[in-house]
Amino acid sequence: MLYFGSFKDIDTTKYYKVVLAVRHLQHPVKGDNVIHAPVLAPSAYLVAKIRKEKEAGTFDYPMWRAVFVAEYMSELIASVNAQKTLINLYKAGCEKDILVCCYCPDDTVCHRSVIQGLMQGRGRKQNNDVVVSDKDYSYFYDDFRRLVDYKIKQHQIRPNS
Ligand SMILES: [Zn+2]
Repeated sequence: MLYFGSFKDIDTTKYYKVVLAVRHLQHPVKGDNVIHAPVLAPSAYLVAKIRKEKEAGTFDYPMWRAVFVAEYMSELIASVNAQKTLINLYKAGCEKDILVCCYCPDDTVCHRSVIQGLMQGRGRKQNNDVVVSDKDYSYFYDDFRRLVDYKIKQHQIRPNS
């Protein structure tokens, strides 16, 4: 099963693997089963952009939802490595307990809710509920599919890329 949380939820004895979905590690995290997956994090460019909005006091949920989610999804779509990692994450979650985490205390304005939604949507499609959570972010999966379809139509990406 897949679990999502912040760094305070890290318990390397409880999970088969702990995936750190952050661009840069502020401190090393000990454990043989800890995996750093910067490919699942927003780009340095996007992280800096969010930080700037936060510093200006203009960052809030509507802005995050309207601006940053689409940009983050576009980055995932553009990265073959990210796509592969997402598929592998889903497959691994079907067999073992995996925790995906990042630094943000609040997941509602954090990219991990997008990853969770992608997993929930994929699971729903395959009748396989792999995510353990009381929150349903599967609408991100629908948004993601829509964005992929749009990019195909605009010839920005090729089908099945
Ligand atoms: Zn985060």
